[in-house]
Order: sequence, then C-alpha cells, then structure tokens
Amino acid sequence: MDIAIQPSASDLEDLSSSPDHTGDDVMHPIFAKMPTSVSFNKLRKRLLRQVRQAIEDFGMLNGQKRWLIGVSGGKDSYSLLALLMDLQWRGLLPVELIACNLDQGQPNFPKHILPEYLSSIGVKHRIEYRDTYSIVKEKVPAGGTYCALCSRLRRGNLYRIAREEGCDALVLGHHREDILETFFMNFFHGGRLATMPAKLLNDEGDLMVMRPLAYAAEDDLAKFAAAMEFPIIPCDLCGSQDGLERNAMKAMLSDIERRMPGRKDTMLRALGHVSPSHLLDPKLFDFQSLFAEPKA
Ligand code: SF4
Repeated sequence: MDIAIQPSASDLEDLSSSPDHTGDDVMHPIFAKMPTSVSFNKLRKRLLRQVRQAIEDFGMLNGQKRWLIGVSGGKDSYSLLALLMDLQWRGLLPVELIACNLDQGQPNFPKHILPEYLSSIGVKHRIEYRDTYSIVKEKVPAGGTYCALCSRLRRGNLYRIAREEGCDALVLGHHREDILETFFMNFFHGGRLATMPAKLLNDEGDLMVMRPLAYAAEDDLAKFAAAMEFPIIPCDLCGSQDGLERNAMKAMLSDIERRMPGRKDTMLRALGHVSPSHLLDPKLFDFQSLFAEPKA
C-alpha cells in the first residue's frame, strides 16, 4: 500500500518558507532541542559546509529541482535529510524535498517510526511497502549475503517512486567511507578504478543519483545522529550482514586511519585528483600519440 502524506501546516513549514535564515548561528527548528555545546555546533557546521561543497563541486543544482531523499531509518539518511532541510530553510537549497522510505518487508520492521518522525518534522514524504525481502530470501542461496540483491531491488523501486513523484533526482545518504570502501572493493576484487560517484545519471537518462554526503565522515554522521536522537531503525532486521568484502575494506581503512590519522581524507582527495597520463588506461589517455620532440 502506498501512502502519500503531505505535511500539515506547522511551525516548521512557516519557518521553512522564510528565506531569511542565513546567519551561521541561526538554526532550523529541528535543531531546537539539540545540544548547545560548542562541539555539536562545530560538527553541525562542518557537515553543512561539506554538503554545500559537494553540491557545488558536482553541480547538483544544475537542473535538479525536485529531490527524492531515500530515508532508510539509518543514521546517514536521517542526517542527510536534516542537513538538507536546514540548507533549504536558510534559502541555500532552492529545491523541493520529498523524503521516501521503502519498507522492504523485513521481519519486525517498525512501520510506525518513520511516518511519525517525518510528519513531526514537517517534511513532505511518501512511505511505500514492497516486500523485496521475500524475493531476496527466495533467490539468494543459503549462506549467501542478501545485500547486493536487496540494494538492487531497493534502487529499482526508488527510481520508480522518483518518477511517480515527478522528481529529477534520487538523493542518497552514502558518505566518505562508503565511497572509499567501494573504491577498494573495485580495486581489489573488480580490477577497475571506480567508486560510487557523487553524481550519476541513471542508465535511462531521466534521473540523477546524487550523494551530497560524499565528503562527510561516517564518524561525524554517527555523532550527529546520536546528538539529534534520530529514531534509528537497525539494518539487521533482515538477518543478513553486509558482505565480507565490504567489512574487510572497512576494517582495513579504519586500521590505516588509526595508524596514520588523516589518511581517509587524503584518499578521498586522491579520488578527485586523477592523472590519466600516470595510469595505465589507453582509453583515458592517448599514449599512442605521445612523442618526444628532440631538442636540436
Ligand atoms: S543489511 Fe539487510 S536491509 Fe540492509 S542492504 Fe543488506 S540485506 Fe538489505
């Protein structure tokens, strides 16, 4: 069953229609009950800055005016939604936001949490039930991990919902660590240099997939979500855990960061600083036409 819920008139909406909230220390009402500590404020501002930077660097506002935000009930997507709502409220994000949760039929999924929360913050939202869990259970052999198929089915449904809602972009809560882990999985196991891009046109060419948290650290998002007291829904209700490969990449990256602090940021910077002439891909760089011009 699909339920489309429009936000009721609320203080939040009244405020969100006002364009004049640009001061750094003025906060969106959803932050009203949050810690007033300097450290939380710094964290909030850092995340807002990183989201704005990603939006600017990847031209996320170039044509995309109606964004469907995938909200799973995890820390990352809750944080993404709050940060985008804050930017919108400040008049810095001139787009329409629609939050969407796909209830995939996992056993004991607490159906009431997201509708209640999304209504309480006054965001337009849609909750949709699709039992992809049964499909995954049926198709994945015993002992296999569900995540790849589960994510594919989720993505397909979110594309469909985005189209039905007239959206031009599907916006997801993947962060720095997701991007690095995917890069190393492709590097070690896939034999290619590629990761989750911050902005991607889907195969059909009608929807942009965007990741405004591309520069945000997972640790920061975890602290932010805890301080914001988001009603987190655990992602292990399905009985599966993410694949062994991703967990191994996560552990490797954490170990590197522990021994050499700052390396994750360096690695992320490297992904945005590519030298095709210093790699080995003749499709990216025309090595055939490279000639020396001897000095007379
Ligand atoms: S942990 Fe479960 S719900 Fe999350 S992606 Fe994997 S299979 Fe799907």
